[in-house]
Formats: sequence, structure tokens, C-alpha cells
Amino acid sequence: MIRYAKPTTVDEALALLGEGAWRILAGGTDFYPAQGAKPFRDNVLDINGLAALRGIAETDDHFVIGARTTWTDLIRHPLPPAFEALKQAAREVGSPQIQNVASVAGNLCNASPAADGVPGLLALDAEVELRSARATRHLSLPDFILGNRRTALRPGEMVTAIRVPKLAAAGASAFVKLGARRYLVISIAMVAARLVVENGRVAEAAIAVGSCSAVARRLAGVEAALLGLPGDGGLDGAIQSAPITELSPIADVRGSAEYRLDAVREIVARAVLTAAGPMNDHMVAAA
Ligand SMILES: Cc1cc2nc3c(=O)[nH]c(=O)nc-3n(C[C@H](O)[C@H](O)[C@H](O)COP(=O)(O)OP(=O)(O)OC[C@H]3O[C@@H](n4cnc5c(N)ncnc54)[C@H](O)[C@@H]3O)c2cc1C
Repeated sequence: MIRYAKPTTVDEALALLGEGAWRILAGGTDFYPAQGAKPFRDNVLDINGLAALRGIAETDDHFVIGARTTWTDLIRHPLPPAFEALKQAAREVGSPQIQNVASVAGNLCNASPAADGVPGLLALDAEVELRSARATRHLSLPDFILGNRRTALRPGEMVTAIRVPKLAAAGASAFVKLGARRYLVISIAMVAARLVVENGRVAEAAIAVGSCSAVARRLAGVEAALLGLPGDGGLDGAIQSAPITELSPIADVRGSAEYRLDAVREIVARAVLTAAGPMNDHMVAAA
């Protein structure tokens, strides 16, 4: 017989997870479309009763996004400008109806190459907190999302939070999503860029691209090319000539691999120039 449980405490949820195999249900916006009309075969652990996992808190070292925090919760929560890329991504996940129920953590656990939340979190060096009845572990995002629809989640574990180190929440950021239309669209490619500009020069650059590889990737070559440049000049030129070796886009109904690679350089430039600040606005408009 299939079980359905809706625990109200995390300990109760972890105890249940230790007892057998469960599928976790959060906002259901990936869960139900994947289920379709098929009969349920697995136990369902509904985490919507876990009030403790909803919301964003701060510790000395981290911003902690609880696993049941919705995109709308994130948009409404005051956060430093480094989170702007993630907030912009949140505003572009589906529609407000989706954003009101869907969780940030569900987006990571579903591990779609086109998950809009991943680049912004990669640019913030985010970690995933995983708990079972016996242990807690923290994995960096690249160690958690292993491939298309594959994560490092083990039987008996659930994601309880996403943590952003305060050291990485520096500077300003921007997100650019390329889709075939403005809203309710699966990304052809998307970019989150976070820049720290000190004394007029780029001191830190974190740039991540999604939908152009099985898992969203940071662009180390572009990041290195930007370091030390003036925040108000030369960024676009450096991006156009920097090596991009991390991406391996597929061709599908949304675009060819060549188109994706071409488009990525352009949207990287737009995201970086926006993150760099108002002095670059004329260049973004011209791009
Ligand atoms: C109309 C529509 C439009 C959409 N548009 C976008 C879009 O523009 N961009 C985008 O990125 N996505 C989009 N999505 C996909 C989806 O809304 C997001 O990925 C969302 O963030 C998933 O969160 P959820 O809470 O609904 O997850 P659920 O559907 O509840 O769960 C997703 C998966 O994660 C697992 N899971 C959830 N929480 C946990 C946890 N705490 N621990 C372990 N496993 C867990 C579930 O078992 C399931 O496998 C769209 C979906 C729909 C239906």
C-alpha cells in the first residue's frame, strides 16, 4: 500500500524518510507534471506542513534559505544587491502563480539543465544542506547537482536549506534569461553575473550560465578576463575575446548549439554590464 504523510516537524519527516522510500512533494510544480496521469507507485512525503523550513534567516556566516521557501518569499525578502540576479530569476520562473507555490530548493532537486535558479545560486557560491535522521551534510552546488535530473541526494535524506556564505554575498548582480518569448518560457540560455568593483576596478567576478550544459556552469575564463579591469570600460571587449570552454550546449527545438553559444556571449555581456552599474547602461542599451 502506498503511504502519504504530511509531517509538521522536521524530525518527524526525517524519521519517516529513514523508514523507507519516499518521493518528496514541495510545491508540486515539477512533481505533478512529471507524474502526469500515471498511477502513484511511491510513498509521498508532503513537506508543506514543515513551517520551520519556510523563510530566509541569517547566521553569523550565512544567509539560510529554508527548503520550503517559495520564489515569492525570496522576491519579497530584503537581501543585499548580490542577490539581485537570483531575485530576477525568481521573477521569471513561470508566472506569479508558479512563484507563489514553487520552492527554490525544488528547482535544485529537480536538476533540470534549464532550472533558472541555479546560475544565480552558483554565482553566490551557494551550498545545499542535506539532512537525514542520522547526519547533516553540506555540499557545494556543483557537488549536489551531478547531471541532468541527477543529484547527490541519498536515500533517507532531504534538502533542508540552501546556504549562501556572507563572504560571497558581496557586490552587485544581474540575471538575463533568453527565451522564445518574455514569460512562461523554458530558457534557451540564462546568465547570472555578480561583480565586486573596488576602487573602480573589478575585484571579483562570478558568472554562471544555465541551459548550455547538463548542469549550469561557472565561466572561469570570462571571470579571469574581467579581474582588474575598470568597472566602466573594457568589460564588453574582454567578454567577447575571453575563452568559454565550459559549455556543451545541445541542439533542440528551442535553438541550435551554435546559436546558444553565440547568444551566451551576448547575454553574459549584458548581465555583466548591468551588474557593473549605471555607468554601463548606454552599452547595455546599445547591445
Ligand atoms: C507552468 C510552469 C512553468 C514553469 N516555469 C519555470 C521556469 O520558468 N523556470 C524554471 O526554472 N522552472 C520552471 N518551472 C518548474 C518549477 O516550477 C520549478 O523548478 C520549481 O522551483 C520547483 O519547485 P517545487 O517546490 O514546485 O518542487 P516540486 O515539484 O515539489 O519538486 C521537484 C523535485 O524536487 C524534489 N524535492 C522538492 N523539495 C525537496 C527537498 N526539500 N528535498 C529533497 N527533494 C526535494 C521532489 O521530490 C521532486 O523530484 C515551471 C513549472 C510549471 C508547471
